[in-house]
Amino acid sequence: MTSTIGSTVLGYPRIGPDRELKRALERYWASTIDEAHLRDVARAVRADTVRNLHEAGLGSVPGNTGSFYDHVLDTAVTFGAIPPRYTRLGLGPLDTYFAMARGVGPVPPLEMTKWFDTNYHYLVPEIGPGTRFALTDRTALDHFREALEQGVRTRPVLVGPVTFLLLSKPDSEAPAGFTPLDTVDDLVAVYAELLGELHRAGAEWVQLDEPAFVADRGPAELAALAETYRVLGSLTDRPNIFVPGYFGDLGEALPVLASAPIEAIGLDLRAGAPRVEDLAALPGLRDKTLVAGLVDGRNVWRTDLDRALSTAATLLGMAGEVAVGTSCSLLHVPYDVAAETRLDPQVASWLAFARQKVDEVVVLGRALSEGRDPVADELTAARETVADRARAERVRDERVRRRLAALRPEDTRREDYETRRVAQDDSLRLPPLPTTTIGSFPQTTDVRRARAALRRGDLDKAGYTARMRTEIERVVRLQEELGLDVVVHGEPERNDMVQYFAEHLAGFAETDHGWVQSYGSRCVRPPILFGDVSRPAPITVEWATYAQSLTDKPVKGMLTGPVTILAWSFVRDDQPLGDTAKQVALAIRDEVADLESAGLRVIQVDEPALRELLPLRVGRQRDYLDWAVAAFRLATSGVRADTQIHTHLCYSEFGDVIDAIVALDADVTSIEAARSRMEVLGDLGAVGFARGVGPGVYDIHSPRVPERAEMTDLLRAALEAVPAHRLWVNPDCGLKTRGYAEVEPALRHLVAAATEVRGSL
Ligand code: GLN
Ligand code: ZN
Repeated sequence: MTSTIGSTVLGYPRIGPDRELKRALERYWASTIDEAHLRDVARAVRADTVRNLHEAGLGSVPGNTGSFYDHVLDTAVTFGAIPPRYTRLGLGPLDTYFAMARGVGPVPPLEMTKWFDTNYHYLVPEIGPGTRFALTDRTALDHFREALEQGVRTRPVLVGPVTFLLLSKPDSEAPAGFTPLDTVDDLVAVYAELLGELHRAGAEWVQLDEPAFVADRGPAELAALAETYRVLGSLTDRPNIFVPGYFGDLGEALPVLASAPIEAIGLDLRAGAPRVEDLAALPGLRDKTLVAGLVDGRNVWRTDLDRALSTAATLLGMAGEVAVGTSCSLLHVPYDVAAETRLDPQVASWLAFARQKVDEVVVLGRALSEGRDPVADELTAARETVADRARAERVRDERVRRRLAALRPEDTRREDYETRRVAQDDSLRLPPLPTTTIGSFPQTTDVRRARAALRRGDLDKAGYTARMRTEIERVVRLQEELGLDVVVHGEPERNDMVQYFAEHLAGFAETDHGWVQSYGSRCVRPPILFGDVSRPAPITVEWATYAQSLTDKPVKGMLTGPVTILAWSFVRDDQPLGDTAKQVALAIRDEVADLESAGLRVIQVDEPALRELLPLRVGRQRDYLDWAVAAFRLATSGVRADTQIHTHLCYSEFGDVIDAIVALDADVTSIEAARSRMEVLGDLGAVGFARGVGPGVYDIHSPRVPERAEMTDLLRAALEAVPAHRLWVNPDCGLKTRGYAEVEPALRHLVAAATEVRGSL
């Protein structure tokens, strides 16, 4: 077992360079193509990936990087962890798989949640004492053979068994105290079977990802890791085993892996390099390959190759082989910068998407093994690019920097809440249990068409404005008719709550093809934040003031918060994220001030992503929460006491961020609560939260129209935890993904429920 890795990437985008697989999936689900057609598309995308990676000159090409939906779901199906509610459907393998991903009829899908701190979502496997692991699906093996026929001996990539179980949840049959990790021995036995089959098919390496170990883990979990790789490593019939941990540092898991009988370990050096002394203290590394994750798999900037090489140099001698890799899978970046034709050429020259990152890895690999000379040109070009970006005028805006330097502590503080409450009550004169929505109304085909026509140039600015005004008027009239107390303009002009703001702020660039998979067939196109951020002109004021001109009811201005804007963009890596957050906060602060001057008395600043950026290790969370809260406060504290600031968070499991939510100091916070039956209110009360709160009483994630009585019950439950003068009545989230056929009756019931409960106060 002496084969080397040299250079590699840990994974690759899989939706197709032109989103071919996305479209094929959606057509298959709509029954316009058959399974054979879908499989053909997937095979072509796969073959293309393998060929590209091979021809680029990677030392080791990853295999099994494709997926019809999600790689955690693939792992569950591979090893037979399919809950009986899906097997009972009696569908073929592919439709059973899609049933787990999307549900069918009354059978709900697996729960979906975020893959660590990325914007990718995976399906949560359900494991119980009754789960019988078995090698149920041999896709990894088939794809290995397929690539071999293409002349490429790939390195199949699988989610490692321990991470797989740590990401799973106990199924409904599991007794109290059961954890999926209890089944690790059984699962590892089936991994062993697959490793044997792969080996016999000719695989020299297999990659088992264990990113769960970059978060804090207890002794039982570390022991499971040690035992798993002792068992797998002791097999005689197996490929070499490569275990990467990414999105952070492996911490205590590193010595465990270093002393395990495996052949390679991958470190994410972009997320924090281990100290050289710590590595030197791990004799187990000496006969292993260390895959140095030097090229950022999650961000889009060209790598400083000189710096990467000097980092690599410090590792030489620590391990038997030092190979070059990406920090994590390239799943999290778009395919190819070359596809961007409208991007500013200077900004484009600073970027590396997946295809460019492969080249960087190859160059670094060659520099390490052959010396700098053979790649001198590439190194020079990279050095010039890095220097160009560092000194580019467009990256720095001295006005923004001076403004930041002049900030004082009082710029993030408002009057005390009691003063504000009295002033706001006086100005707004709302009934108890005021009703409102979270911002967006259904995006009709007409609205989408108008936006597309404007983009194509088929509709001029004036025509577009007229169409949006018509829509805003319709939405405002509807809300008046329904009897909502605080109305919104409905957000028809927004394609996406982050992209819309990025398009209007200086310091951001937009791509045409920069799609990244979010889940299944869903892709997002994150804006690229490359320079100092400012707001050249008001963004939402014309729409909000138009809405306010139509009604005497207070209109709630609607903005996206700085943390969410960062979380859903590619961010610059040349300054601390907290500094970037302040710049975005100042831009939003300007918009808040203009909305206030224009006569808006209520302004909502959404922060649904506040929890998403939370660092995986507890020790790093405080610092993040400090700057995140400060950014929100900077954005929202420039207003008068009688201006009411709302915020909206998309979830109810606040866990580690609950104190931060209190610290945001918003006058009203709307949250998801319908699904958890208002339990969150108790949690908020327990930490002393005493502001307005709008626990969602209508679950907009489902097409169901809730009855008035259900919402009345929820409101009465909420009143157990929150006094009437602080309780707001609203749906769980924005309505843009729903249709009017559901939204109208649901809001009618919501207003009726509020009226009924008010009557009995
Ligand atoms: N105001 C946004 C909307 O209603 C909030 C969306 C969100 O929370 N993700 O669509
Ligand atoms: Zn939401």
